[in-house]
Amino acid sequence: MRKSKNSQIRGAGTGDWVEERKKMAKNLRDERSDVYRDHRAQLILSKFLSSEIEKLDPNYDPNYGYTYPIVEAIVGDHAATETFLDHLYEIGILKREIFDKIISCPKCNSSGVSIRYCCPYCKSFNVKKSSLIEHIQCGYIDIEDRFKQNVCPRCHNELTKPDVNYRKAGVWCACNDCGKNFDIPVPSHFCRGCKNIFVFEDAVYRDVYSYSLNQNVMKEAGVGYILVAPIREFLQSHGFTVESPGFLKGKSGASHMFDITALKSDLTRHIIVIDLATSAEDVVSEQSIIAMFAKVYDVAPDRACLIAIPKMSENGRKLADLYKIELIEAKNQKEVMKALEAHLSFTELAPAESRPTPLTETSLQ
Ligand SMILES: [Zn+2]
Ligand SMILES: [Zn+2]
Ligand SMILES: [Zn+2]
Repeated sequence: MRKSKNSQIRGAGTGDWVEERKKMAKNLRDERSDVYRDHRAQLILSKFLSSEIEKLDPNYDPNYGYTYPIVEAIVGDHAATETFLDHLYEIGILKREIFDKIISCPKCNSSGVSIRYCCPYCKSFNVKKSSLIEHIQCGYIDIEDRFKQNVCPRCHNELTKPDVNYRKAGVWCACNDCGKNFDIPVPSHFCRGCKNIFVFEDAVYRDVYSYSLNQNVMKEAGVGYILVAPIREFLQSHGFTVESPGFLKGKSGASHMFDITALKSDLTRHIIVIDLATSAEDVVSEQSIIAMFAKVYDVAPDRACLIAIPKMSENGRKLADLYKIELIEAKNQKEVMKALEAHLSFTELAPAESRPTPLTETSLQ
């Protein structure tokens, strides 16, 4: 008995292994939904969703090495940006592919590093690199400097047509310090920052990535969270105080949660509530309208808006009309913002009192 209990704890059985995998997948999902609520992630992901960024390539900066300026502007600093992108990759929001490899100094971490081709005998980098030339007619081979004015030093004929009467036959190096010749140099590195000289064995050699959005993430209702950031900014730019999620107390005394609440209290008190409904299938069910109406009836905001992605069911449309809930149907972020701009400049919504009292579903016909 004791043994089987142990194996269960260790997850050694096949069933346990499956459970373990499911748990890991769930943890990743939970981590992703945390990230979707992060304002910085919302801003970055909305750039991918609006196609402002298709693929995030790094930029080379002589002082800092590779950077991602768009992300850095949002996240704050260079080191935090790398950690942030790494995390988005690890939890499956971003995909990545290798863009380049970067060599950094092991002493000061600078990537302002040059390559030196050194003499294998005395390790000096004071090496002269030459091409070897073969005069095809007479078979003479020597370094290019010896063929003065393109004349072969052995047969004194002129070298005129490359690859016809002469060709390159490799490279040849001469060490200016010890005088020895060789064809394969030994590489070493020089840090232009701290002047450190180091070899391949000690070099910091790292991957640099391009990032793109994992398409599955959009389906994972991420669209809902990611939409919040641009909507929030839009409403704020119109003078609203925005909460997401927002909580409002109803006439009944109960507190109701909306995906977004926007409040303006200048001349007149103005409250807008917005809910987002996404569907993995093609159509959002009318349940989202019914659920919203229950809250809206109690809270009585000036305007209530439901954003359905990609579209609302036929029944849902009728209900939205009956309940005076403004319905926005949109396939993507761009369409939502366009519709929202049009809706907000629209005439005021009918006062809450004129909304019908809640009906049971059977009494709707
Ligand atoms: Zn010759
Ligand atoms: Zn040498
Ligand atoms: Zn250095």
